[in-house]
Amino acid sequence: MSIAVRPPTLKDHSVREFDMLIDGQWVAGEGGRTLERVAPSHGVVASRYHIAARKDVEAAIAAARRAFDTGPWPRMRGAERAEVLNRTADLIEKHADEIAFLDAFEAGKPITQVRGEIAGAVDIWRYAAALARDLHGESYNTLGEGTLGVVLREPIGVVSIITPWNFPFLIVSQKLPFALAAGCTCVVKPSELTSGSTLLLGRLLIEAGLPAGAVNIVAGTGAEVGALMTGHADVDMVSFTGSTGVGRLTMKNAADTLKKVSLELGGKNPQIVFPDANLEEFADAAVFGAFFNAGECCNAGSRLILHKSIAPEALERIRALSQRVRVGDPLDPSTQVGAIITPEHLAKVSAYVADAKAGGAAVALGGETLDLGAGQFMAPTILDRVTPDMAVAREEVFGPVLSVLTFETMDEAIAIANSVDYGLSASVWSASMDTCVKVARSVRAGTIWTNTFMDGASELPFGGYGQSGLGRELGRHAVEDYTETKTLNMHLGPRTGWWVPRE
Ligand code: NAD
Repeated sequence: MSIAVRPPTLKDHSVREFDMLIDGQWVAGEGGRTLERVAPSHGVVASRYHIAARKDVEAAIAAARRAFDTGPWPRMRGAERAEVLNRTADLIEKHADEIAFLDAFEAGKPITQVRGEIAGAVDIWRYAAALARDLHGESYNTLGEGTLGVVLREPIGVVSIITPWNFPFLIVSQKLPFALAAGCTCVVKPSELTSGSTLLLGRLLIEAGLPAGAVNIVAGTGAEVGALMTGHADVDMVSFTGSTGVGRLTMKNAADTLKKVSLELGGKNPQIVFPDANLEEFADAAVFGAFFNAGECCNAGSRLILHKSIAPEALERIRALSQRVRVGDPLDPSTQVGAIITPEHLAKVSAYVADAKAGGAAVALGGETLDLGAGQFMAPTILDRVTPDMAVAREEVFGPVLSVLTFETMDEAIAIANSVDYGLSASVWSASMDTCVKVARSVRAGTIWTNTFMDGASELPFGGYGQSGLGRELGRHAVEDYTETKTLNMHLGPRTGWWVPRE
């Protein structure tokens, strides 16, 4: 197979060192323990983080609690909070090169792609700033002369934010600005594999004028640090993005203190293609959907459900395009697919391919790991003759592996699409608006695209049905998610007695 390979090279490299942000101070943490992240593309130490002990996590939560209960942030005017969020957006733009390098090097993501994610993040920070000024409740002037009803929106309190490694800067930016816009205070834990850009964001928040303790950022593993953040009694809400398994654990851990939980979890997202679809446009979207971010994407279009009559032509087009995808050094601006996050994860992805082959699937492209001299890489892989019962068709592979299934009737396509536990996103391809709308209404997923894939906007809510999650991010409701609702029932004039009725 011919693949356009970009072997990793490194001109100058120094290990980035990070402390944690607790109550406005940069600290090394109790015991001064550190964790090293090896760049998945170059095999050298990229970053060294100080990691939190129990005492540090408790200090971070206590700081957020104080900042919420007595600090200025929840008490400011929305316009003042908006100013800080907008200044943060400006600073993100100013430091985009540094952020892009960190995410590309620690996560193995193509640097050109990360620049796009940072631009998207800036837009979200500005959108959340606008919502900070627009957050409002309701009033009821319809309850009679003696009553005025007011429904207040109040910040929910202290929020634990936990993020994964696949979009380090973008995902923290889908949560933090909305929590801050609502007036919440936060403790943030990025993935232990990719903490750099989130810790750098802490510096920008302080420079933007965020009061001490309003955002605290701790590094460390999920089992040690994350579990404390999801169970602690002083935390009011947990906003988690990660795997469905850890999402389930998070919900259980938060249940003891009945915290609100928002979960953005895995996906097994289908693209359903009818005979009247534009196959040229679809093929491009299929390759993008499957191999963008090396398939390490909750939204990856990892299942194609093709009408039998066009399946051979569609597959040939996708195969031809996939061979041209440029795989390799994430720091090379022309690279489209970077490294796989860890050697263990590469082994897991390879095991899915082996299992599918053993079950009767045919490898139409790739299927093998790539030795580029350093790091771990995998060839874009297409598996044909996949059946809906195979693990590769039902489970989140989280690698550059595309499964091709076929259908004959619309009902069959919808049934295959809905046959998995996940329901994050889906797409339908057809020239007929009737077909698109009918399928869009029937597929159980939080986002449905018609004749496109993985488009998004800060205004549009994002989240999953079923085991893909709970709640929605982005959109104007995102700020409301970080609020409590309080009813203010105001009595006007003399009150009608209950025990001794008054005249
Ligand atoms: P993961 O679940 O292993 O880890 C996510 C975060 O949770 C990390 O910060 C980790 O340290 C922490 N964590 C781990 N164990 C924990 C515990 N016991 N308590 C609290 N926190 C804990 O996920 P990952 O491998 O980092 O990311 C990949 C997963 O994220 C995929 O399943 C992907 O689909 C999902 N994801 C979903 C979305 C979405 O918006 N739906 C977006 C991106 C990624």
